[in-house]
Amino acid sequence: MFEQLKKNLEEFGFPVLPDEKTGELQWIDVRELKIRYIISINNIKPFFDGLRNGKLITTKCKKCGELYFPPQKDCPKCKMSEMEWVEIKREGTLETLTVIFVRPPSFGVYDPYTVAIAKLDDGPRILAWLRGDPRQVRPGQRVRVEVSRRKEGYLMYELVPI
Ligand SMILES: [Zn+2]
Repeated sequence: MFEQLKKNLEEFGFPVLPDEKTGELQWIDVRELKIRYIISINNIKPFFDGLRNGKLITTKCKKCGELYFPPQKDCPKCKMSEMEWVEIKREGTLETLTVIFVRPPSFGVYDPYTVAIAKLDDGPRILAWLRGDPRQVRPGQRVRVEVSRRKEGYLMYELVPI
């Protein structure tokens, strides 16, 4: 791709390439952009402490009782900030999944991976990667949330068929 891009840059004066699907001309910027996210986790530290101990800790609204996952600082229903931290059960039922073949550059070190949504027994839905062969599961499959270490070195939760 980059050889053709260089050729087009010299010939046409612009870094352009036709889109693989539509054939429409696209500007491919010659500058590479690196982004490092810096996000405060001060309000959700118990969630990270939970993951370190293999637990799912999330927030529950003290007023209406709604459970949120991932944790929320405020209840979107009540517009209140009175939340409490609770541990939720790590089991649920698979609802849907999709396999990501075209990975974003930040996940380029991974083989195609499966992203799934499960409804936890305690109520909230969870979006996470699914471990194992996606052809071996169907909606309705029981799953457990397990904490594992990603290739990048950090802890993350994933869904594991049980
Ligand atoms: Zn509420």
